[in-house]
Amino acid sequence: MHAGTTIATFRFYEELNDFLAPERRGREFACRCARAATAKHMIEALGVPHTEVELVLVNGESVGFERALGDGDRVAVYPKFEAFDVTPLLRVRERALRETRFVADAHLGGLAHLLRMTGFDTLYDNHFRDDEMERIAVAQRRIVLTRDRELLKRRGVTHGCYVRALRNEAQLREVFDRLDLAGSAQPFTRCLSCNGPLRAIDKAQVAPRLPSGVCERYERFTTCDGCARIFWEGTHWRRMRARVDALLVPAS
Ligand SMILES: [Zn+2]
Repeated sequence: MHAGTTIATFRFYEELNDFLAPERRGREFACRCARAATAKHMIEALGVPHTEVELVLVNGESVGFERALGDGDRVAVYPKFEAFDVTPLLRVRERALRETRFVADAHLGGLAHLLRMTGFDTLYDNHFRDDEMERIAVAQRRIVLTRDRELLKRRGVTHGCYVRALRNEAQLREVFDRLDLAGSAQPFTRCLSCNGPLRAIDKAQVAPRLPSGVCERYERFTTCDGCARIFWEGTHWRRMRARVDALLVPAS
């Protein structure tokens, strides 16, 4: 070994192992580090997006992402904890985002739709490119939802969620569980078309714009100021209501 070589030992926990090469999963392994490499740099070089990491210990002490690694350091990397209180330990991110807002990548249109249905501000466009996603996440302090780990490694992306599930309902459940969202869901408060907030509107005001029959059968209406659509609790709404109610029941 020549002078200046830095070799650190790594161990990743729980589902973070999914991102590693198979021979590195579930065990300690040694890895050569670039000169002055930070914990974040090495964790991402090994394949794990930093957004998936909640806690890093170096030689048993919690550190921030920018900690420079030294020769012989032992690095333990943990995902978001489900049932283990880490509040006394320093977490890698400075603070949580105050409001839960999302930007979903082009492959997660179904999930974006369900998030809007449950009231969460979720930007989505199937033409979003990675650099636009990053720009939006930074400018609007949004949590990035994606199945693309490279997107989560971008410098500007501080809060993200790698979505593992493939089906829309399972994806929503996964995001809800990970971010503990069930308690703050507000179903049917957001426009499914344009993501704008919905507000109640007097029947008299919208009556001229309603299809025949709707006016006689329904009393309550909401509108979106973004796209001017009008909504009422018709058959389609009741089907969505049943779907959302099923989604919001905690998994047993
Ligand atoms: Zn709208």
